[in-house]
Amino acid sequence: MRFSGPACISCIYFIILYKDMGSDNINVKIIGKTLSDLNQLRTKYIFSLLHGKSMIHGLPHLIYRKCGKKNCKCAKGNRHGPYAALSINKNGKQRIAIIRNADTYPIMKEAKRYRYFQETLSKIRKINREIDTLLEKVKVETTNEYPGP
Ligand SMILES: [Zn+2]
Repeated sequence: MRFSGPACISCIYFIILYKDMGSDNINVKIIGKTLSDLNQLRTKYIFSLLHGKSMIHGLPHLIYRKCGKKNCKCAKGNRHGPYAALSINKNGKQRIAIIRNADTYPIMKEAKRYRYFQETLSKIRKINREIDTLLEKVKVETTNEYPGP
């Protein structure tokens, strides 16, 4: 088989390019494994949040109270409770809402879902930052200056 001049040069360029794409760089391979693991974990977290069940805005919280009677045990520090409550953070302000007895079970259940969502969301955000840092490393690892330093 015969190649004309320009075609041969294209072949050589292709071979060089193909070799570069094969990630000979050992650091890139190591980073790639970490990225793959992080991505898998992130996917697991994401799908665990898509249950579609309702949540209540607030974190499960238990409170102990004083009733105000002077001779009560609570006046000496042995406060009443625990009472189920929600710790609600809205626009940077935190407030506590006591849950009515009859609502305790369903509301606490939904608040626990909300807490799980919040905790998992912050894990996902942490992974996002790690992935971003690793991709920056890949860029640094594989980028050269032209025409050179
Ligand atoms: Zn009391």
